[in-house]
Amino acid sequence: MARLFLKNPLGILAEGAEGGIVVEDGRIAELVPASAAPLGPVDETFDASRHVVLPGLVNAHHHFYQTLTRAHPAAVDKELFPWLTSLYPIWARLDPDAFRLSVRLALTELLMSGCTTAADHHYLFPKGLENGIDIEAEEAASLGIRATLTRGSMNLSQKDGGLPPDGVVQDEDTILADSERLIARYHDRAEGSMLQIALAPCSPFSVTKSLMVQSAELAEREDCRLHTHLGETKDENDYCQKLFGYRPLDYLEEVGWLGPRTWLAHGIHFTTEECARLGRHRVGICHCPTSNAVLASGFCPVEGLMAAGSPVGLGVDGSASNDASNLIESARHALMVGRLRTQSAAAVTSRDVLRWGTEGSAACLGRSDIGRIVVGLQADLALFALDELRFSGAHDPVAALVLCGATRADRVMVKGTWRVVDGMPLGVDVARLRAEHGAAAARFA
Ligand code: ZN
Repeated sequence: MARLFLKNPLGILAEGAEGGIVVEDGRIAELVPASAAPLGPVDETFDASRHVVLPGLVNAHHHFYQTLTRAHPAAVDKELFPWLTSLYPIWARLDPDAFRLSVRLALTELLMSGCTTAADHHYLFPKGLENGIDIEAEEAASLGIRATLTRGSMNLSQKDGGLPPDGVVQDEDTILADSERLIARYHDRAEGSMLQIALAPCSPFSVTKSLMVQSAELAEREDCRLHTHLGETKDENDYCQKLFGYRPLDYLEEVGWLGPRTWLAHGIHFTTEECARLGRHRVGICHCPTSNAVLASGFCPVEGLMAAGSPVGLGVDGSASNDASNLIESARHALMVGRLRTQSAAAVTSRDVLRWGTEGSAACLGRSDIGRIVVGLQADLALFALDELRFSGAHDPVAALVLCGATRADRVMVKGTWRVVDGMPLGVDVARLRAEHGAAAARFA
C-alpha cells in the first residue's frame, strides 16, 4: 500500500504531528513530530508548508433540498414558525430532478468548505420523491464524501394540530417501512463506513407521539442513530405545552429518546436542569449558530451542555436559514455567537469551535473513527492555504482560519483519497452545476 507523507504543515489541529502525517490504506498511519522524519519509507511526499491541516469537518445537521429556496422573498426576515409555514407549500413542489441537483450542490459546497462527512435531515417526500434518500446516497457516493443520511418524516399535519400542510406528510406505516428498507440497503455500521442511515422524525410539531416511539424502537433494533429538531424556539415550547401538556425535553423522555443514540439539532431553549439531564443521558447536540442567528432563535448553551456530558457538534442547518452550506464559515459564527452570549473571549476559542466541528460532530453521529488526527483513524483531512489577502499578517495559522474567516479549503481528502485539489472538487463541473441548480431553483420562486 502506498504511503503518503503530508510534510511540514504550516499549522495542524493535532498533538505531536507538527512535522506532518503519514497516510496509508485510507487511514492515518503515523504522526511525525516537529523536525522529525517518518519512521518507515514513504512512496510520495506532499509539501504541506502552505497549508493548515484540520481533521475533515463533520456537518451534523442540514437540509440539502433547501439550497433551492435560499434568500426566498416569502421567508426572509421571518422567525421559525412563520418561516416554515411560508415555505412548506413551496417545498411541496419538490421533484426528483431538482432534488438531485440540490443534493449535489449542497454536498459540493460542503466539500469545498473542508467538510468530509455530511449528515442530512430529509423529511419531505411529496409524490414522486419517495426514493429521495436513494438519490442522496447516489450523490454522496459519486462525490466520495462520507454521509449519515437521516430518514426524516412528518405525519402530523394541520388537520391533526400539526404545523405542516396535509399534502407534505406521510403515514406512519409508509415511513417505518421505508426506514427499514433504507437501513437494510445502506446502513453500514463498520469502522470506516462511508454511509450510515439514521431515523429522524422532524420535530414535535410535525410528527405523532406514536411515530417517535416506533422510530426509537426501530433504531434500537437496527443499531442506528436518532435525530430530530429540539429546543429551537420559544414557539416550540409553547406548542409542546399546549399539545402535550409539557416541555419538549419531557416529551423526548416520554417517547423513549433520552439516551446516547440521540442527537438533537439546535438545543437552545433548555433550562439548566434540562441541560444537566441531557448531559447525564449523553444526548448529542448539533449547534447551528448561523441558522440560529438568521432566524433569531436564540443562543445554544454550549459550555453548559458540554460540562454536563453532552457531545456538541456543529451544523450549517438548511440552506434556507443559513443560507450557505459552508461549515468553516459556521465555525467562525460559532465563535462570535458564543462570545456574544458568554461575554467572555476566553470561553470560546478558535480551537474550541474547530473541535466542535470535527470531533464533536463525529461524536454526535456516533463515530469514533473520524473527527481527529490520530493514528488508526480514517484519513479525512481538510487543508487550508492562507494565500488570500485576508490572511496576510496572521501569526497563529490555526486561529487565523476562524478569526480571519476562511471560506474555502485548498485540498480535501476523504478516506485517503483527494476529493478537492486546488480548491476545486474533482469530477464536478462547478459552472454547469451552478447553471443547472440555478435553473431548477427558479421553479421555486
Ligand atoms: Zn434543521
